[in-house]
Amino acid sequence: MLELTSIADLRAWSRAERSAGRLIGFVPTMGYLHEGHLSLVDEARRRTDSVILSIFVNPLQFGPSEDLSRYPRDIPRDRALASARGVDALFVPTVAAMYPPGSQVRLSPGPIADLWEGAARPGHFTGVLTVVAKLFHLVEPDVACFGQKDVQQLTLVRRMVRDLDWPVEIVAAPTVREPDGLALSSRNAYLNPEDRGRAVVLSRALHAAHQAWRGGETRATGLEARMRQELGREPTVAVEYISIADPETLEPVDTTDERTVVSIAARIGGTRLIDNIQLGEGIR
Ligand code: AMP
Repeated sequence: MLELTSIADLRAWSRAERSAGRLIGFVPTMGYLHEGHLSLVDEARRRTDSVILSIFVNPLQFGPSEDLSRYPRDIPRDRALASARGVDALFVPTVAAMYPPGSQVRLSPGPIADLWEGAARPGHFTGVLTVVAKLFHLVEPDVACFGQKDVQQLTLVRRMVRDLDWPVEIVAAPTVREPDGLALSSRNAYLNPEDRGRAVVLSRALHAAHQAWRGGETRATGLEARMRQELGREPTVAVEYISIADPETLEPVDTTDERTVVSIAARIGGTRLIDNIQLGEGIR
């Protein structure tokens, strides 16, 4: 596995792959890799010839009171996991390389970025789209893989690619979970054993909504009530929002169908977790 740190080396690698006729698959991450990230590598591998994974904890997408400084990092471990999974190239830039002094242009994501995660984390999606735009320009991937786990990010990346006519195919991969249902996340590392036990209530609430929907409840109010009932079993878990929304616009819906996305954000101790399902699929 090749390891690249400079933008010049990354561009040279990408140019060489393309001139050799190889399709490039790209998996952008913030590292501290887990099976969710690695499932995106597999997805990229199935569709392309050369897979590049980036690790960059992007300061632009963290608010001033968020967990940027304590975000988990372990490059040697990530390097071993990526290499064992067959990643061809690892891109690990420094903050100074990505945002040299004076860097100021930002990508404006539009109104979807003001909802849900964006309302809870002002500026978050400006940071996300700015870094994804930069990375897309540097890597020039044919395919880029994102997790359904961060559904609003996925929706906004799709929008950006569509609105700005980018020649890259965005592939979404299902959320990888622990055996008890908890969605894998680098932030799960923050949870102490008690909170880890409590965290399963997020996926339980989503599962309850899915069961109710399959049982014939199509009203969003009914599904939310069912979720809150389930969440009530863990009073220390503080729900930030429950969103029952259209998959394209992420606007709330009153009546649901199989495409409706049900999302939840909650705080457990000092840790903020998110999860979601599409009603037609449920917890997979
Ligand atoms: P992150 O490192 O958290 O920025 O995530 C990098 C990519 O991995 C994003 O596209 C995420 O949606 C995706 N991802 C994170 N957690 C999971 C998971 N549990 N299952 C599938 N994809 C995931």
